[in-house]
Amino acid sequence: MKTPNMLDAKKRNQNKIEYTSYNIDLGKFGNGKKYYVRTYGCQMNEHDSEKIKGMLSSAGFVPTEDIMNADIIILNTCAIRENAHDKVFGYLGVLKHMKKSNKDLLIGICGCMAQEEVVVNEILNKYKQVDFVCGTHNLDNLLSIIKEKMDTKKRQIEVLSYEGDVVENIPVIRESKYSAWVDIIYGCDKFCTYCIVPYTRGTQRSRHHEDIVSEVEDLVKNGYKEVTLLGQNVNAYGKDIYNDYTLANLLEEVAKTGIERVRFVTSHPWDFTDEMVDVIAKYDNVMPYIHLPLQSGSNKILKLMNRRYTSEDYLKLYKQIRSKVKDSSVTTDIIVGFPGETEEDFEETLKLVNECKFDGAFTFAFSPRENTPAAKMTDVIPEDVKMDRLHRLNEVVNKYSNEANQRMLNKIVKCLVTGVSEKDENKVCGYTENMKLVNIDGPKSLIGNIVNVKITDAKSFSLDGVYVE
Ligand code: SAM
Ligand code: SF4
Repeated sequence: MKTPNMLDAKKRNQNKIEYTSYNIDLGKFGNGKKYYVRTYGCQMNEHDSEKIKGMLSSAGFVPTEDIMNADIIILNTCAIRENAHDKVFGYLGVLKHMKKSNKDLLIGICGCMAQEEVVVNEILNKYKQVDFVCGTHNLDNLLSIIKEKMDTKKRQIEVLSYEGDVVENIPVIRESKYSAWVDIIYGCDKFCTYCIVPYTRGTQRSRHHEDIVSEVEDLVKNGYKEVTLLGQNVNAYGKDIYNDYTLANLLEEVAKTGIERVRFVTSHPWDFTDEMVDVIAKYDNVMPYIHLPLQSGSNKILKLMNRRYTSEDYLKLYKQIRSKVKDSSVTTDIIVGFPGETEEDFEETLKLVNECKFDGAFTFAFSPRENTPAAKMTDVIPEDVKMDRLHRLNEVVNKYSNEANQRMLNKIVKCLVTGVSEKDENKVCGYTENMKLVNIDGPKSLIGNIVNVKITDAKSFSLDGVYVE
């Protein structure tokens, strides 16, 4: 049994990062057993679930959409806020009942919660229905952990609290046939004081650019139209392994593969260089959509958050992006109720939002995370004040996203059609170049294609449109 240790997880530069290739072959021991994977959290978790499915399928397990039918259920978890924890613990309660009626059912926990000391201790003591826990750093060892559980019937906990490695060629089953996630950098070294990611995902580790480009070339050959380059801070790409190769160089190389759309997420303002803005502006197939988390408009709070930029730095970068990247859209993340945030600090945030007029924003109430510096800060903001600020912020944010959408009215834009609309099964849906969701009046045969769409109606969170030939 290997359990997590948050103090070890914080250490940096203790071990050399190993670059290896996936080499686990335990035969088809899955023997047709059915698996069900439930994903919580960010795009990186979505992509990790694609790897979990890939590994399980390589060992002879088969997917099922019906959880009641599953022989093995894996929860790929998120730890970013307390409510992410609550969802998983709540669901484990439901699974406990399933286990009563199917005693051979296997239940496993992967993802960021698996890397947390308190969580694993709680699972060990209170959640006996969990058969195995596999951390983020040793996800490539998942099959060995499951096989060991099946062979010995003993509970398996394997979580490593070190800086992490880079394992290439993990089998993957992608959700989409048109749009693919591609990891470019794992982990994070920023240590924003509120954030648990540097502890659960390890140090910043870039993949070699040759491996990334060759993955994208394969995707192009297989008919993919879009790739999204993934990392907690993609703008730090290359810093750990190269002297003079950055995200700007990588974006350029990926753009030249001929893939029709390149996206990237998430950007940290601190590492965003002029060259990166120039490359985004230069290549038509690098999409004009940037998710640029602000977190707060108050310099005092930004400093307490250890964000390493001021509101003036942010605004300068923001204006540069807007002026250089044609038809760009910019979205952001904002936290309200960080310890010490006064009404004046919050108004600074509102002021910046009013100035930037973001296309959209993910807004959060501060949630203290065990062992992070912000969790130990004393000037705690009461829940009702946090909720009031969140509500006021959302009103402003929604006003601007509605305005941004209104500006799209009557335009003819290119959409990558991704599937049937969730709003209306007679329609399809897709995304514009600047990442707006459109419900499209058009035939299902459009799915998987980039087509012209005329925007006919604009709401706060989506657009309506009609296919034009
Ligand atoms: N790496 C990205 C960045 O630096 O912006 C995103 C990290 S996180 C997956 C997504 C967002 O969750 C953050 O941008 C932040 O706004 C929010 N978040 C992270 N920790 C939080 C916390 N303790 N309480 C509330 N929101 C939090
Ligand atoms: Fe968390 Fe900050 Fe790293 Fe983003 S940059 S993952 S918010 S520590």
